[in-house]
Formats: sequence, structure tokens, C-alpha cells
Amino acid sequence: MAVPKRRKSKSKVRSKRSHQAIGKPNLSSCKNCGSFVLSHRVCPYCGFYKDRVVLQPKVKADKPEE
Ligand SMILES: [Zn+2]
Repeated sequence: MAVPKRRKSKSKVRSKRSHQAIGKPNLSSCKNCGSFVLSHRVCPYCGFYKDRVVLQPKVKADKPEE
């Protein structure tokens, strides 16, 4: 197995890690209740997907229903 010849400096390690941040998720708004939801997933607040109810949410969301 290949072994690195030199230890990477703090600066090299930190500059490499500067690009490793996790990005924000791409959120879209629910067509029914307008809350932010992940796309291609059932809305966790109202249980809607593709303009119809597919499940009842387990916990009542503290978001106001509008
Ligand atoms: Zn919804």
C-alpha cells in the first residue's frame, strides 16, 4: 500500500477541508400548505404528494394551516 512520504501541513489539510462543507438541501414549497419540503417526497406537514393526500401526518405540525 502506498504511504505518504510527507505529512500534510495544517494549511494544506485546512485548505482541502474548506471545500467539504455540506450544501443546503434544495427545498420547494408544498402545493397544499406552502411549507418547505424536499422535492419528490411527501409533505411531512400535511401528507400531500402530487395534489392528493397519501398519508396522515403522525404529529400535528405546529405550523399554522393556511
Ligand atoms: Zn404540505
